[in-house]
Amino acid sequence: MPMELTFLGATGTVTGSKSLLRTSATAVLVDCGLFQGFKQLRLRNWQPLPVEPADVESVVLTHAHVDHSGYLPLFVKQGFRGRVYCSGATAALCGLLLPDAGHLQEEEARFANKRGFSKHKPALPLFTVEDARNALAHLEPLPFGRETRLAAGASLRLLPAGHILGASIVRIEADGRTLVFSGDLGRHEDLLMRPPAKIDQADYLVVESTYGDRDHPRNDVEAEFAAAVNRALHRGGVIVIPAFAVGRAQALLLVLARLKAARRIPDVPIFLNSPMATDATELYHEHHEEHRVSPEECLAMFRVARFVRTAEKSKALNMKYEPMIIISASGMATGGRVLHHLKAFAPDPRNMLLFAGFQAAGTRGAALLGGADAVKIHGEYVPVRAEVVLIDGLSAHADRSEILDWLGGFTAPPRRTFVTHGEPAAADALRRAIGERLGWRCEVPDYRDTEVLE
Ligand code: ZN
Repeated sequence: MPMELTFLGATGTVTGSKSLLRTSATAVLVDCGLFQGFKQLRLRNWQPLPVEPADVESVVLTHAHVDHSGYLPLFVKQGFRGRVYCSGATAALCGLLLPDAGHLQEEEARFANKRGFSKHKPALPLFTVEDARNALAHLEPLPFGRETRLAAGASLRLLPAGHILGASIVRIEADGRTLVFSGDLGRHEDLLMRPPAKIDQADYLVVESTYGDRDHPRNDVEAEFAAAVNRALHRGGVIVIPAFAVGRAQALLLVLARLKAARRIPDVPIFLNSPMATDATELYHEHHEEHRVSPEECLAMFRVARFVRTAEKSKALNMKYEPMIIISASGMATGGRVLHHLKAFAPDPRNMLLFAGFQAAGTRGAALLGGADAVKIHGEYVPVRAEVVLIDGLSAHADRSEILDWLGGFTAPPRRTFVTHGEPAAADALRRAIGERLGWRCEVPDYRDTEVLE
C-alpha cells in the first residue's frame, strides 16, 4: 500500500492543524488542533473526522498551542487509544492548556445557557475539563533528537522548532522515506527561543506559511512598544494587551521588564491576568536549556508584573480606573478573561488595545485591527473607541524570508512540498516564492485532500 497523507486542518487557515499519515504499517496523526476564527471553521470541530480515532495508532504533537493540540480531548473521547508523542515541555504545557481549553468550553456553554443567546438548547461544551484530563494520560514525552519506534518500519524524531517552549519539527521515517513536518517555525532572532533546527533532507515536506506573504518589520520592537505605551499612559489610559498565555505573554513580560529597567516607560502597574500565563512563565523558568533568556532576566520577568489568579481580582481590575497595563488571554480575543477587559475598556478613547501577534481571520482580534467600531462580546455589542494598535515584531513565527532561509538548508528538493497553516493568500504567496527562489515543486492542499505519496 502506498503512503497517504490527508490534510484534516490548517488548510486555508492557521488553525485546526491535523495531518493523517497512513503508511504500510501504521496510521499517525501529526497534530490534533482545534479550529478557531470563522464560524464555518469552528463548526468543523463538531463534524466527525473521516477516520475512526480508534484506527489511528499514534498522535504526534508539534507543540502545545491549542490550534495544534486542542482537539486531543475530543479525539480521546471518540475512542483514540494510542500514545501521544511530544517533547517534555509540550507535555507540561498541554497540562496547562488543555484543561484550560476545556474550562473555557464549559464556561461558554454555561454563559450561553444563562443568557439564552445560543441557538442550541442547551448549548453544550465541545469537551470538558475532565475530557482534557483523560487526554493528558496519553502523553508520552520524548527528548529532542531521540529516535522512537512508531510501528514496523516507522520511526519518529523530534527536533527543536523554536517558536514556543517545546515546539518541535517532526521527522518521520516510514517505508524507507523521510517526511518532515515543520510545525510552527520559530525565528532566527527570537526574543525568547533559539532558532529552529536545520533540516537538510526530506522526501516529503509539510511547511507552515502563517507569514508566507510578508516579512516582519525589522524595526526596533522595544522602541515601538515604548512609544505606544507612553502615548496611552500620557492621556491617562489603560492598555489592554490580549496575549497567548504561552510564548507571547512571556515575550511581553521580557520587553516590559527591559523598558521599565531602562526607564523608557513610567512605573505604572502591570498585571498579568492569566493564571495559565503565570504557570507557563514558571515552565519557561524550568526549561532554561531550551531558550535564550538568562536566569537573571527570567527573574526580572517575574518581578515586573503582578500576577492575577482569582476571578474576583480579575473583575476588580475593571473597576480600577487608573493608568495601567493589563496582559490577558486569549491572544486573539476569542475568549477568556480579556473579553471582560475589552467590555470595560474598549469604549473609552483614552485607552489602548494593543495586539502583539497574528490575528486569524474571523476572530475579534482581526475585527478590531480591521477598524471595527463595535465588537460582539457575550451576545452584546461593545462600542470600540479605544486606540487599536498592532506591534508585529514580537511574532514567534518565521516570516517569509526566514522560512525561505530555513528551506535553503535542504541539500536537495523534497519530492513534494505541501504548504499549509496559512490564510489562502499567505499559503499561495509562499508556494510561489518557493517555486521562484528554490525551484521546488510545491502544492497548497485543500481541506480533506488525500495525497498519495508514491
Ligand atoms: Zn503555535
